[in-house]
This record gives sequence, structure tokens and C-alpha cells, in this order.
Amino acid sequence: MYDMYLFMSYCNHNSGRGITDHIHLTSISLDAEEETMPKTDDVLVELKMIFNAFLKSFFPFAFENETYRLVDNYVANPWIRCDICRNYPIQDVSVIISSRGKELHVGNECIDQLTNRKASEWFKKYRTKRENVTNNRKYIDDLDSILTAFRKGELPFNIKKNDVELLLIALERMCNGFTLTSEQQQLIEFYINKSVHLRDISKGEKYEN
Ligand SMILES: [Zn+2]
Repeated sequence: MYDMYLFMSYCNHNSGRGITDHIHLTSISLDAEEETMPKTDDVLVELKMIFNAFLKSFFPFAFENETYRLVDNYVANPWIRCDICRNYPIQDVSVIISSRGKELHVGNECIDQLTNRKASEWFKKYRTKRENVTNNRKYIDDLDSILTAFRKGELPFNIKKNDVELLLIALERMCNGFTLTSEQQQLIEFYINKSVHLRDISKGEKYEN
């Protein structure tokens, strides 16, 4: 959790000055003292919290004599027209609401201009990270189970010391929303295949030969 607070405070300090270009998820730590290791859903929850903190980091801004707040960002399907510049089609949409409750859905150029920040760039990176985490769901959850069992001494095979470190790095990388190198992928698959009968180890069930 620690790094996420740092991230949030960084967001706040950074208000109005530009994009925070790095999402720290190392807070989902690989700390041996913690009860459970990260799971994809935990990571996605944390990402959502970072997303909300980013929205909150924007000061209200003026448009046509009204004060607006940035309240959401989503990918439109089907594409829509920007409520401000009328450009069509726009896919990445930011939602802004005025103090009187007027809601506008606007494109990247407009939201960056209104907020005077590269908000659209941040949202794009956020979505990529979220997508990568989702795509790596199986790797994250399986590797998490294996490393948890290993730490508890419940794994019926050994992991080489050097590989443990490499696997932890790979897991952290995935939790941070990055893609794996092919070497990391191969290493993870090697151990996942080894433990294919160990689906439930994270629930504390004993392995039976
Ligand atoms: Zn626009």
C-alpha cells in the first residue's frame, strides 16, 4: 500500500503540471510477511484506486462560464461525437460535470486543453496496463500460487534460487501492468507445467501424490 500513497501524493503535488507517467504497483509487495501473494483481482482493484486518485487530482476548471470536474474516462463503443469540438469519431472519452450538473463527454484534445494536463496520455497508459494485467491473469494467478506454496514449504518440487528471484521479478512486472519478455514467459510456463496438479495449493490444500 505504501507506494500507492506515494503515488497519490505525487499525483496531488503534480496537479496542473503534467502527467504522472508511472503507476507504482510495487505496493502489492512480494513481502514474505504478508498473508497472501498478489492476485489479478487485487491488482485490478489497486489499479482502479489509482485511476480514481488520478481523477481526484484534477482541480476544477472553467468552461463557458461554468466550473467543471473530471469524473470519468472510458472507451466509447460505438464511437461518439465530442460534446465540445463536435469532432467525430472519438473513442477515448472523458466525462466532465459542471457544478450545476451539466455532463459533457469529450475527446482527448479537448480534455487536455481544458485541464491543461496531458490527461489523455495518462488514461491511455492506464488502459494499456489494465489490459496487460487482464491478459496475464493466468500467469499472475498461477505464479502467485506457486510462489506462495514455495514460501510455505508446500511445493512438492524445488525452484532454483536464481529462478525464484527471476519469477518474483516477472510477477512484479506483470502486476505493474507490463508485458513479459519471452524468457520470462518460458520460465513461468516451465514451473506452471510442473505444478499443473497443484491448482489449489494457495487454498492450503495438501498435495497428494
Ligand atoms: Zn473535442
